[in-house]
Amino acid sequence: MASVEIPSLQYTAVEEIPQRVKNVRTTFFQQKTRPIEFRLQQLRKLYWAVKDREHLMAEALKRDLGKSPNESLMSDISITLNDIVLMTKNLPKWAKDEKAPDVDITYSLMKPTIRKDPLGCVLIIGAFNVPFQLAIGPLVGAIAGGNTAVLKPSENSPNCAVVLQQIVEAALDPSCVTVVQGAIPETQALLAERWDKIFYTGSANVGRVVTKAAAPHLTPVVLELGGRNPAFITKRADIRLAARRLLWGKTFNAGQICTSQNYILADREIVERLVEEFCKAFKEYFPDGAKASPDFARIVNDGAFRRLKEMIDNTKGKIVLGGTMDEAERFIEPTIVLVDSVDDSLISQESFGPLIPILPVTDLDEAIKIANDVDSTPLAVYPFGTKQEAEKVLSAVRSGGATINDSFMHVTIPSLPFGGVGESGSGAYHGRNSFEAFVHRRSIATTPSWLERTLSVRYPPYGEKARKFIVSRMLKPDFDRQGNKVTSVLERLVWLFTLGGGANKQGALRAAGVVISS
Ligand code: NAD
Repeated sequence: MASVEIPSLQYTAVEEIPQRVKNVRTTFFQQKTRPIEFRLQQLRKLYWAVKDREHLMAEALKRDLGKSPNESLMSDISITLNDIVLMTKNLPKWAKDEKAPDVDITYSLMKPTIRKDPLGCVLIIGAFNVPFQLAIGPLVGAIAGGNTAVLKPSENSPNCAVVLQQIVEAALDPSCVTVVQGAIPETQALLAERWDKIFYTGSANVGRVVTKAAAPHLTPVVLELGGRNPAFITKRADIRLAARRLLWGKTFNAGQICTSQNYILADREIVERLVEEFCKAFKEYFPDGAKASPDFARIVNDGAFRRLKEMIDNTKGKIVLGGTMDEAERFIEPTIVLVDSVDDSLISQESFGPLIPILPVTDLDEAIKIANDVDSTPLAVYPFGTKQEAEKVLSAVRSGGATINDSFMHVTIPSLPFGGVGESGSGAYHGRNSFEAFVHRRSIATTPSWLERTLSVRYPPYGEKARKFIVSRMLKPDFDRQGNKVTSVLERLVWLFTLGGGANKQGALRAAGVVISS
């Protein structure tokens, strides 16, 4: 196969950045991105620019992260393409004005409507680990919403950053979307500009920098951050399944996945079996070891490698699988460690690498307490056990999302909102949520001229007529002073006729003499 050319990454000159931003901001005010047909065309072109560069994307991911072609297809290529198709199919429907719900007759005369208006000119800052999906995903939402945008890919995946720029430049109108390349100085120059939304993916520390930069203009920010995600394995769980699924979750992209579990809280009684099952699964996935496997990725750069090495070097736990590394290749073997404290180096920070610490616990209550102490708002939680146990975890531990009985599958379902809560971020995207993240739901009322006679009651000098009018329109509470719901005579009759609500309610209402209009 012919070798693939990817030019080296060129940073954008910092002095150029304000003008680049000004250009896309000006385009927004020219309303070029407002027509739905324009947005659809841009998205369709984006689809083909990605499709035609699948090989380049796979090669860039190989160079930057040692990602295997299959993982690249799963994590970056297929999800990105599906995202665009889903958006193009649904955009006309999602962008339509909505009628305001629950309005009474007078208000309905004012045609209360929710418009989905573009926000303006937005900044998207991407992360290194799933570089295409994390940049193009929000960009799809921004374009669909009718915004103009500047995209700043992560400099830590330089080959992917170059291919991202090629995709954008091949597909999109340059007056509407532009790519700025660079590291901290370039990002800071971008953050110094005025935006209508900033969509940031990356670490919580930089999330704080972004939020501070947004504050002077009160710019809304979406923060897609990381977290210390726990997995819970009770003695009622299918241990083999848990080991197989969590090993996949933590070896995919060499554990550089924000939603992979950071540590496992396992019932003491099943820890031995769990380790055995992990070892069996490991042999099955990597028969010649992870280093020789074409399916196991590498750590993104030397800094990240050293950070992970330090975490392993400093653990007080017992390594039961793996533990080897090779700095020259930035290879870290999937490493399972039995730890005995939450203060262990493997739990006290997010690893973002193939490290699997297991902390034995006495029961689920103890596990829940530990999880809330370690990180009370992780990006994800993974309960393995009975349905009731999973429900208990979901009720007691908050998180951005969750998959019961598996690793990060919830992230792959396009119609589920993806995002964090608390320290793991705010805002969400994917599918319709990507569109919603980049529009303003604008309330519109139109008061007809002929309603003036009725409405003139609101003008001063105020009198008894105005008071009566307002009082007549006030809603009646269906609860008492103790906070209890009060059942009306009508509701009681309906309950009686339907024997608790099982049978046809409309029939019961008719029987009670109530006129039902369709
Ligand atoms: P990164 O190195 O990719 O950086 C993210 C972006 O921030 C880059 O574009 C970078 O240029 C910019 N940046 C870095 N330092 C900056 C500074 N001081 N000022 C301004 N901009 C700066 O990402 P990372 O931070 O190494 O990413 C790893 C973290 O991101 C992990 O915590 C991971 O969980 C999280 N993450 C979250 C998601 C998600 O969707 N929630 C996805 C991927 C990664």
